[in-house]
Amino acid sequence: MNEGIVKKITNILLRPFKENFLFLIVLCTLTICGHALGCFTLKHEMNLNAAIVTAMHCVCISYIFTLFIGLIRQKAVKKTLQTIFILIAAIDFAITFYCSFYLHSVFDEDIALLILETDPSEAKEFFTSMVPMWVIAAVAGVFLFFILIWQIIKRLNLRLNLGKKASLVAMGIITICIIVNLCKWGIWKYGPIGPFYEFTQHENPSDLRSYFSHPKLTFDDKEELPTNVVLIIGESFGRSHSSIYGYNKLTNPQLAQLKDNSLLFSFDSINSPAHSTVQSLRYTLSTFDRSNEKGKKWYEFISIMELMNECGFDSYWFGNQGRVGKHNGTTRIYAQACDHQWFLKDDNTVDQYDIVLVDSSYQFIKQICHKNHNFIIYHMKGSHFDYSVRYPKEFAQFSENDYPTDPKNHRKILSSYDNSILYNDYIVNKIIDSFKDSEAIIIYLSDHGQVMYRNSKDPDYYAHGREEDPDDYALGIDIPFFIYATPLFQQKHPQTMQRIKYRQDHPKAWNSDNLPYFIMDLIGVQEINGESVQSKSILN
Ligand SMILES: [Zn+2]
Repeated sequence: MNEGIVKKITNILLRPFKENFLFLIVLCTLTICGHALGCFTLKHEMNLNAAIVTAMHCVCISYIFTLFIGLIRQKAVKKTLQTIFILIAAIDFAITFYCSFYLHSVFDEDIALLILETDPSEAKEFFTSMVPMWVIAAVAGVFLFFILIWQIIKRLNLRLNLGKKASLVAMGIITICIIVNLCKWGIWKYGPIGPFYEFTQHENPSDLRSYFSHPKLTFDDKEELPTNVVLIIGESFGRSHSSIYGYNKLTNPQLAQLKDNSLLFSFDSINSPAHSTVQSLRYTLSTFDRSNEKGKKWYEFISIMELMNECGFDSYWFGNQGRVGKHNGTTRIYAQACDHQWFLKDDNTVDQYDIVLVDSSYQFIKQICHKNHNFIIYHMKGSHFDYSVRYPKEFAQFSENDYPTDPKNHRKILSSYDNSILYNDYIVNKIIDSFKDSEAIIIYLSDHGQVMYRNSKDPDYYAHGREEDPDDYALGIDIPFFIYATPLFQQKHPQTMQRIKYRQDHPKAWNSDNLPYFIMDLIGVQEINGESVQSKSILN
């Protein structure tokens, strides 16, 4: 090779050290602090070795970006790009720091969905209730440190670039990092590219109905289709805080009364398929499950809306969660696959209490509930954090004084959470009341639970279960599952009722990702495209 070209390439390769060394150091520090140090906080697989390899990967990525900056000769363009890259690295650092040190998780699809499918009011609540002061202080501290160093360097007019010999040594170190990186290729998931990859994986269809595949359903001839099948999707309701399941505070007085009157049945040992809303709904409302995750997209599976449609039901969605504007979040996609949908948040960006679900539907339900076949879904705001804004004043029945044996810093959260569950009890009972004179079966389940300070390894944590820690995760997917059957339904479907009562008395571990099979079983469908429905139903 021509000696001139070799010299030119060497010059370009050494430019990050000779011209833009400070930029390289800033990028390296931000990425290593966020990603490599975070490895120590992850509970499984990640250890010192992983941290070192991740750090080397961060060095490689930082070097590549600095190399690119070195190729730009126009000063203004170069400065602008440098600022943009540092800003992105700073945001990446803040998010990764939060995920690693507070959630003990890598930035995964769930967190990307949480960011992408959130709305302004949810985001505000998230920051006020889910980002602790110490995280904000730590991130701000790192930023201040960088600003301070930058100012000192500027004031003293220091030149931090390396000389020729030092640059060659640095290049040697970079080469080692690149070789290690190539040998441990999979590590990129834990580095700065990971979060950006997760964002690009977010893909939702504009219309779920165009994916309807018209599955072949086999019916049980003896069973007559019920008039109303109602599904109430709750939010963040952990089973351990329901008095029906033995909680020591009376959080479910109204539902307990229905249970005493043999109108409501509660099932034990039920788990949700995920610890977050979006993921859970993808599994719960379609035949998509964790075992067939690879290959097909979630929206290519048969949805409960399509199944009910095929069975001759008209479907309705009343949602107190949903997107304002045109954003195609998972919730909206499901809602729009129904024949009719009402987004109760659309007219008002301020969160409304769940009573809006009852107020807006009561008269309508009274008109339709005696004719045809209706499938009605209510999507509640339930006990979504911030718990304290989920219920009106008169439902603030529990106060900090009711938790004398709990640590002081837990009491406020515990009382507001229990108040939100109490309000949930009132709303679910109100919805049930709309149907009580008709032939209806009403299913209530929560999308997932909450940890609520029960993880002994992290006793101050209360929110969503964290996937990196199996105990924490198990606490976060432990949900209540109720079935209410009106007297008319009970009279018309004695066999189904027998099976429901048997299951209540003989609990069986079941995951709500099989909800479509359970609903099909309830209404007398035996097979979906030749696949047995009963084998996945909780009643079997
Ligand atoms: Zn949720």
